[in-house]
Amino acid sequence: KRSLSKTHETIIGRVDTLLLGKKQIDTDTLEELEEILITADLGVKTTVDLIRTLEQRLKRDELQDGAALKRALKEEIQLRLLEHHAPLVVTDKKPFVIMVIGVNGVGKTTTIGKLAARYAGEGKKVLLAAADTFRAAAAEQLETWAKRVGADIVRHKEGADPSAVVFDACKAAIARGTDVLIIDTAGRMHTKVNLMEEMKKIRRVLTREIPDGPHETLLVLDAATGQNALSQAKLFKEAADVTGVVLTKLDGSAKGGIVVAVCHEYALPVRFIGVGESVEDLRAFDPVQFVDALFQ
Ligand code: GDP
Repeated sequence: KRSLSKTHETIIGRVDTLLLGKKQIDTDTLEELEEILITADLGVKTTVDLIRTLEQRLKRDELQDGAALKRALKEEIQLRLLEHHAPLVVTDKKPFVIMVIGVNGVGKTTTIGKLAARYAGEGKKVLLAAADTFRAAAAEQLETWAKRVGADIVRHKEGADPSAVVFDACKAAIARGTDVLIIDTAGRMHTKVNLMEEMKKIRRVLTREIPDGPHETLLVLDAATGQNALSQAKLFKEAADVTGVVLTKLDGSAKGGIVVAVCHEYALPVRFIGVGESVEDLRAFDPVQFVDALFQ
């Protein structure tokens, strides 16, 4: 809960300044609220939708004072988060394949390490595929995580063909009876075309070995980058079949509103949130808890 304190301060702090002790709500109040939500990174589309709903509730005389409006705002945000919410369910497919995508620096490797720790902790056999062959550091970092959490790893030399890594990893996973195969992919700043090409190539190799894979395509976004995270969500959603999102660095960021925007505007389920650098700082996303922490 403390991890959302910055977001709480910036969003709810301003909402409270606007609403606390207000005896009557009018459209001007809603206009000011609209501005707060937009600057708090909830996204224009989601904000407009929220304000429109609150206007209707105002007309129905449901919002007598500031406290009632704040309660209604909380309810409506929660509804929108629940609408697309779905936790990541790792089925007993062997292997269950999670492909992890996102640009450099968002916390992709760290998230993979945390996920590996989570599944290894559940007694699952985990294999990591270091298919980001463009940065030697990426494979090394992944190897450190693998050792730490007791996962296997397949890595090639720097500059190797990512598809070859995926091919070897699939073969190894099948041969060893791996439960969860997590594939790290290159995170160079992408254009839509080369992103699609890269995904297609990896997928082609993957589906030859594991026909119904990947079972999850997880997009990692850095919440602290605000609107940048939103444009990455748009690009990746168009170029790859994203099935879930991880929002990292919510601790210390005031931009937690981005969670609502990603969920509602892009209809993408937020699977996990990152709230710190250590291994236990990856939480399964829970909309009710999230909104409670935000509005506490
Ligand atoms: P990658 O380039 O996407 O693989 O990013 P890394 O996994 O190397 O992470 C970049 C930096 O962000 C590292 O210093 C991580 O420790 C840090 N990081 C990752 N996730 C989180 C998070 O949820 N909270 C915080 N505070 N830092 C994070």
